Amino acid sequence: MKSIQVRLEFNNEKRSLAAQHAGTARYAYNWGLAKSQKAHQLGLKRPTAVDLHKEWVVFKHTEATWAASVSKCAPQEAFRHLNTAYQRAFKMKHVRLPKFKKKGQKDSFYLEGSIHLKGNRIQLPKLGWVKCSETLPQGVVVKNVTVSRQAEHWFVSFKMPHSKSVPTIDNQSIIGVDLGIKTLATLSDGQTIANLRPYRQHKRKLRLAQRQASKKYIKGKSAKEQSHNYQKAQANVAKIHYKIARIRKDALHQVTTRLAKNHREVVIENLNIKGMSRNHKLASAILDGGFYEFRRQLTYKCEWYGSKLTIVDRFYPSSKTCSGCQKVKKELSLKERTYCCEHCGLAIDRDLNAAINLRNQAVSYTVSACGVFKPPNDSFVGNTVKQEADCEIENVQDCVSSV
Ligand SMILES: [Zn+2]
Repeated sequence: MKSIQVRLEFNNEKRSLAAQHAGTARYAYNWGLAKSQKAHQLGLKRPTAVDLHKEWVVFKHTEATWAASVSKCAPQEAFRHLNTAYQRAFKMKHVRLPKFKKKGQKDSFYLEGSIHLKGNRIQLPKLGWVKCSETLPQGVVVKNVTVSRQAEHWFVSFKMPHSKSVPTIDNQSIIGVDLGIKTLATLSDGQTIANLRPYRQHKRKLRLAQRQASKKYIKGKSAKEQSHNYQKAQANVAKIHYKIARIRKDALHQVTTRLAKNHREVVIENLNIKGMSRNHKLASAILDGGFYEFRRQLTYKCEWYGSKLTIVDRFYPSSKTCSGCQKVKKELSLKERTYCCEHCGLAIDRDLNAAINLRNQAVSYTVSACGVFKPPNDSFVGNTVKQEADCEIENVQDCVSSV
C-alpha cells in the first residue's frame, strides 16, 4: 500500500463543514479523554472506544446537537485514536499519556463509506464532490480517508494498492519528450504541446490591477484598516494570480497524464534547471513553463499508471546529436531551430530531433540491459528513423501553425 495526499479545493460552505468535522473530532477526543481521566481517578476501568461512542451518541442527541451535521466517523475515529494513544503509553515507557488537543493544532478527521474518485474530483461522505488540486488515480477502491488542515489548506489522504495499474491501449510505446521554451514539450512521435506561458499572457492585466490597488492604498493604515475599495482591488490581484496558476497547472496535468497513461516508457532529460535559471533570459520562460512541476507530476503519474520514467543524463547531447546517423555536432546555437546534418543530410525540427534522440536513448538502454539485441516493439531504430522523422516534420509544422 502507498499513501497519497492531495490538496482539496473547498468552497466556503465545504470549508466550514470540514472545520466543523475537525472541531467535532477534537471535541470528542477531549471529551473522551476527560471521561477516561475521571474513570482513572475513581479507580474504575477505562472506557473503551466502543463505550465512548455509545455514550457519545446519547450525548449528541441530548446536548451536543451542533454535531448533528457531522459524520459519525469523525468522533468514532477520535475515540479509536484515544484508545491507541493510551495503549501505546501503557506499553512503551517513553510514550506519555494522551493530552488534550488544542484548536488549530493538527486539525484532522476521518471519513469512511461511499468514496469515489473521478478525474480530479473526489466524493466524500457528508462533503459531497470536492475538487482536488491534482488528477486522482482511476479505478482504485478507497474505503476511508483522512482530511487534515495545513495552514489554510485542506488535504485528503488515503491508501491505495501498490500494484501496477491496468495496461492501456498504447502501452507498449516508448516516447521521448524534449522540454522547451517555445513549445512546452516536443514528443518523439512528432506531436507538440504549446507552452501557454500564462504569466506572460496576463502580465499586463496583472500590472494594471496591481497599480489600481496601490492607488487605493492609504499609508499608515494596516491591511485591515484599508478601504473597501482597496480590499476589492487587492482581491482582483489575487484572482489574476490564481488564474495564472490554474492555467499553468491544468496544462501540465493534461500533458503528464497523457504521457504517463499512454506509454510504456517516458524518456525525459535531466535538465539542470537551477543552472539554466541563472541565465535571466531563459529563467522566466522556464519557470513560467513549470519544468519542476512537469517532472514532479510525471514521476508520480508514471508510478500510478505503471509506466516507466527514464531520465537521461544531462550531459547527453540530445540537441547536438543527429537522430538519423548519430553524428554529434560540435556547435549548435539556440537560434538554429532546424537541425541540418552535414553527414546524412537530415533536416529536422531541432526539438523533435532531441525528442527522438531521447527516445532512442531508452531503446539503447534496454538493449544493453538485456545483453542481447532485442528490437523494440515499434521499429524506430536505424534507417527507419530518417523516413519517419521526415514525415513527422510536416506534422510538426501542422501543429505549430495550428497553435
Ligand atoms: Zn545525420
